[in-house]
This record gives sequence, structure tokens and C-alpha cells, in this order.
Amino acid sequence: MLTPIQTEILDDLRAIWKPTPQQSVTDWREQNLLLTSRQTEHPGPYSTANRPYVREPLECWHDPSVTDVVLCWGSQTSKTTTLMAGLCWVIDNEPSPVLWLMPTELLARSFSRTRWMPFLEESDVMRRHFPDDRKKITLLEQHFDRCTLTFVGSNSPANLASRPIRILVADEVDKFAAATSREAAALELALQRTKSYSSSKHFLTSTPTTLEGEIWQHFLQGDQRRFFIPCPHCDRPIKLLWPQVKWDPQAKDESGAWHLGRVRASAHYQCQECAGHISDAQKVVAVRKGLWRPENANAIPGVRSYHLSREEIREAQLAHGVTDNHVGIDSGHAAADVYAHCLRWGRIVPSRQPGLLPMHVGWTPMKGRERDASWKDPKTKQPRPYCLGSAALPHRKFRLPLLEFNGDFLLDILAKLRKGPERAGGFRWELTGQADDLYFRHLDAKVKKPEVIGRSGKVQVIWRLRSGRWPDHLLDCELEQLAMAMIHRRLPWATIAQPEKEEVP
Ligand SMILES: [Zn+2]
Repeated sequence: MLTPIQTEILDDLRAIWKPTPQQSVTDWREQNLLLTSRQTEHPGPYSTANRPYVREPLECWHDPSVTDVVLCWGSQTSKTTTLMAGLCWVIDNEPSPVLWLMPTELLARSFSRTRWMPFLEESDVMRRHFPDDRKKITLLEQHFDRCTLTFVGSNSPANLASRPIRILVADEVDKFAAATSREAAALELALQRTKSYSSSKHFLTSTPTTLEGEIWQHFLQGDQRRFFIPCPHCDRPIKLLWPQVKWDPQAKDESGAWHLGRVRASAHYQCQECAGHISDAQKVVAVRKGLWRPENANAIPGVRSYHLSREEIREAQLAHGVTDNHVGIDSGHAAADVYAHCLRWGRIVPSRQPGLLPMHVGWTPMKGRERDASWKDPKTKQPRPYCLGSAALPHRKFRLPLLEFNGDFLLDILAKLRKGPERAGGFRWELTGQADDLYFRHLDAKVKKPEVIGRSGKVQVIWRLRSGRWPDHLLDCELEQLAMAMIHRRLPWATIAQPEKEEVP
């Protein structure tokens, strides 16, 4: 009977002497792994045809020059399936001790039972590696014929301080338990355990959460690969960027709301190199020919980092280094969905005042109010054009702030800012170089018109849409930026709101 250490040494020797497979990891995967109805709507052999971006990260399992793979990918992008497939390849081709670290032990158990084990059992090749004694395969500790896989939750770091491992898989690292003063963070402990192997490999994945989060920091250390597709018109490699998705600015109904059918019918991608229109069908073909390209020449050697996002706002936020509490989302439509989305990015902090609910600090829903809306500054008791209220959540566990603002008042402020610093208390209003004619068309969507108010016969000058067919949602975005700047005390509105002398009759 061999001791565990002897078994491991034997496993390593076998792994070293096993002939190196010539087949690519992608081909191995497509031949040997199946997706079940638990994993996909289209069960059957796994094909990467519709997910060409997983191929290169998969080959990293086999590439001796790669030590670290960082997948900074949005949700629903096959991160975990890519890890599972790579790990199956290891068990079949390069058996060596593996640790799979997840945010919690509870999550690890559930994942092992509902996703990992069914994935193995569907595959003839993987079933061959099961030991005769099935008791050696538990949810958290799995002794295959030639290697051992252990699942650990980042909240139980005591389980990390034991045997050495060659391969570390750390899934959803941004949700790992933070270190206490007495112990290093789970990820750090797990990385330590791979030190005794010269051929160790680390696979880190997560949906990015904060700029300081593990996944974004590891992404920055790597070679920062992004997925490029060849433009069908100019053949130049382009990154897919959300601002390049265009649609007919007139695709609105009588009330001025977007007509989704017409928006969809007219939507297309405009190549940022040649301005050619790329249809959805052309995009699908181009994506299949897509390639990852590194953008960081100063990467730590061997560290491949891949960024893939389905979440364009988050992507823009991270690219510009904007902190979570400076991101505002319009909640005028589908408020409940907006609230749920905002709660994904930020944290819950205890209230400074006793008896009040804890508060979410992060992405903030925003809502424009009627022209008479006014609130009081809690300190000075002076009226002000915005207020941090509370979003209506279905529970009372914590509070989600809702930034409300007086839209008409902010239109006045914006009008002054556009006239230049002399008319706006010295504040300069600027736009990025991307603002085009369409942008200014949106900004000019409203004009001030005199109107008789009610039966009193009083005349007021009121901001009104020029016409129901004039696009204005980028104007709303400008106003929301002003409200956000005011709540962060970057824009002293009272200075700008001073009446101009020449306007006094
Ligand atoms: Zn082009």
C-alpha cells in the first residue's frame, strides 16, 4: 500500500513519461466531451464554433510557456465550462494534483454535484478515469486513477494548508473571502501551494467587480488580450466596441419613445476603421475568424490575460477608471431591472446613524422629476435641485439610494455651461472627440417656450421637446452627468445658477 505522498510521486512520474499528445485541446474537447441538457439548450458534442474566443485560452492548458491564465470575462461567457473542459483534458493527458478554489464551500459542493459530476459522467473518456472504489470520489475530494482533484471554499482556508498542487483553478476570484488580520487571503495561500512545481499553472477567472478586485489587478499584470475580428469590408482587425453599434435615430413612435422593432431592424455595427456597415450575419462570420491580440508589452512573462465583456457599461467604466459610486443609470423605464443591475456593482455599508438601514454604495439609479421638484439641503436648509432618496426595493434589508433631480433646472444649468466659462461661473463644459452631429442634435432636442399655466392665465417659459420625433436620450444622459457631479460636490450649481445681469428686465 502506497502512502499518499508516494502515490503522488508515482502520478507525477507517470505524467512525465506519458507521451505528449499531438492533438489540440480544442479538438480533444470536441471529440470527448458532451454538453448535457443541464448545461445548454443544445445538448450534444461540445463545439466551439459559436464561441471561437474559448479556443486560445483552452490551448493554454497544453502550452508550457504559459504559467498563468486570467479570464476577466462577463457573465454568460462560458468561463466555467472552459475551465471544466481544460481540467478534463488534464485528467486525461497530464494527470497532476489539482486544487479548484471557489468562493464558498457550499458553492463548491453544489457545483461539484450539479455541474462537474454530470459533465464527467456524460463522457466515456472521463468515466475511464474513475477509480474502482467509487467512495474515492466525494463531492470535495476526488481521487481519479492517476491524479487527485480537491475543491475548497475560500471561506475555509484551513483546508488549503496541506499538500502541494501543480494546477490551481480559482473561479470567481472577486467573490473570495477577504483576508483577516490573522491569515493570508485564500488565493494567496493557494498560490503558495503550487511553488514546489516548476511546471505549475494557475487559472484565474471572474466577472470583474471593482477596479481593486483580484481579477482586474491580475488582468493588468498579464498581456491584456482582447478579441479582434476582421472587418468584412476593409479586412482590418477591429475590437467590437459598443459605441459603434448604430441605429436609425428616427426609429421612434408618436410619443417619442424608441420603436424597438424599427431600432432592431436598422441596427448595425459601423467599422471604426472604414465606417463600413457590418450586418449581424456578417458579424457572425467575422467572429468565427476572430483572434486574440495582446495589448500590453510590459506583461509578466507567461501571464496571459483575456478580457471579454458582454457588459458594455462596465467595460467603459473600467477602461476610464471610474469608481462604482460615480456610475449612474437612468431608471425611468424598467426601474426594477435597473435596481437589480445597480446592486451588482458596489457594496453594502452600515449606516453612520443608528437605527437606519445599511446602504448600497455603488452604481446608482437616477430619475428626473417634474419642473417644480425641489428639495432642501439637510445642512443649510436651502433648496437644491437634486436629492438622494431611496429606490423602492421589495425588502428592507438595506437601502439603495436613488438620485432624483429637477430636469428643467438642470437644463438651465446645461444651457449656461454651453455658453462658456464666462457665463457659467468659470466652469468649462467639454465633450469627447466622439461627439458627432447626432450628439448635438440630441442636446438640442428641447427648447424653452412660453406657456399659459392652468386657468390663472400666468405665462411661464418652459422646456419642451422640439418635436416627438426628435431624439433626446443623450440629452438626458448629459443632465444625469450634471446631477452626478452635483451630488459629488464637483459642480456648485448655486454659482452657475446665479441669474445673469443682462437677463434681468
Ligand atoms: Zn472596416
